[in-house]
Amino acid sequence: MGQQPLKAELVSVGTELLLGEIVDTNAAYMSQRLAEIGVDVHFRHTVGDNLDRIVSVLELALSRSDTVLICGGLGPTQDDLTREGVAQVTGRALVSDPDAVTHLREFFAQRGITPTQNNLKQTTYPEGGRLLDNTCGTAPGLFVEHEGKLIFAVPGPPSEMREMMQLQVLPILAEQLGADLRPVFTRVLRFCDIGESTLTAEIADFIDNQTDPTVAPYAKPGEVTLRLATKAETEAEAAQRLDEMEGTLREQVGSFIYGVDDQTMEVAAGNALREKHATVAVAESCTGGLVASRITDVSGSSEYMLGGVVAYANEIKQRLLGVPPEVLAEHGAVSEETARAMAAGARKLFGADYGVATTGIAGPTGGTAEKPVGLVYVAVADRDGVVVSEMTWPGTREQFKQRVSQTALNMLRKRVLGIEVQRP
Ligand code: AMP
Ligand code: MG
Repeated sequence: MGQQPLKAELVSVGTELLLGEIVDTNAAYMSQRLAEIGVDVHFRHTVGDNLDRIVSVLELALSRSDTVLICGGLGPTQDDLTREGVAQVTGRALVSDPDAVTHLREFFAQRGITPTQNNLKQTTYPEGGRLLDNTCGTAPGLFVEHEGKLIFAVPGPPSEMREMMQLQVLPILAEQLGADLRPVFTRVLRFCDIGESTLTAEIADFIDNQTDPTVAPYAKPGEVTLRLATKAETEAEAAQRLDEMEGTLREQVGSFIYGVDDQTMEVAAGNALREKHATVAVAESCTGGLVASRITDVSGSSEYMLGGVVAYANEIKQRLLGVPPEVLAEHGAVSEETARAMAAGARKLFGADYGVATTGIAGPTGGTAEKPVGLVYVAVADRDGVVVSEMTWPGTREQFKQRVSQTALNMLRKRVLGIEVQRP
């Protein structure tokens, strides 16, 4: 295979996966491990416990990829059909491994049981291939080289799959890759105050003409990220290339980058507070505690986080935060004035340098023509006054809360750092 990268295709076998009863964590693990050694995963499939469909997906995978890795369906029961599928697609007979038969008989004897014919099925492999040892279960894996392609099958139970990948599959692939054993190094740039379409338009040149490192945008509620990835012999070589690409991107859109890698918004806001030796308190209505929860997700946040109030009812907004009843009566709970009073109230109640408040209509019910679902006010108070942002963000309650908490943390971060607070 020389210097060429290996193209891989993964096949997860199991009807329970198609029914959504379990999540395919094995495929994610296998993809990550393969990326680390520089194997390119081009396709992933999920197929039920059905021989014809397993064969059909294996035919497709073998027609275009260098290696096919199958997980699941190696057990002893009638619906475990991976072994038969591999035999059929390669046109080979299933033959028994005498050592494996002995091993299996001993394994069962220790437990006082005699293996059934079904158990013995697990000692078979497509002729010309071999079994892969399973050190923590009974189902061995399979390895077959067929017409220049490598076929692996590993068991479904995650611990067995991981051990077999680590000890047997990855070393075989690494050997095949020879000198091209290059892991992928990545860096994630985190953006705020810019949408995915604006960002990708700004840096269209990079995305259209990318070679190495590759640049991939990804959007989730409240933030856009760019993932830079490069294959390299050493971490230092990768760091140099990633630094260069990051530098070029920063020249264009640097003012929207708030963090790198695992530096989430709660980390960035926390760092700002720590840097300025400042403290914060929160008053949350529509986010129900998510802002406080995210602030306290960060280890060491007790240095700057004093506390918070989930002020859902108007009475609590009045009684604990000191929001004047006439403000609530005149402007309503979801209003700029209430947000201001909540932020200032939290700051005062806890004796903090900064007070952060959220109040909005998460929906799906409760909207009016004047105040639609998704309307939200976020306020940050400090000793110089209060800044407020008004936004409308339709979406699920979960997305809404996530976005609002992101905005609140971002406004706090910018206020602490003295960056002008603009509307997100
Ligand atoms: P199998 O080898 O197909 O009999 O799978 C045995 C067990 O492993 C299943 O019942 C699941 O609990 C687990 N399993 C199988 N495939 C996966 C997968 N792709 N991801 C996570 N767990 C799995
Ligand atoms: Mg199964």
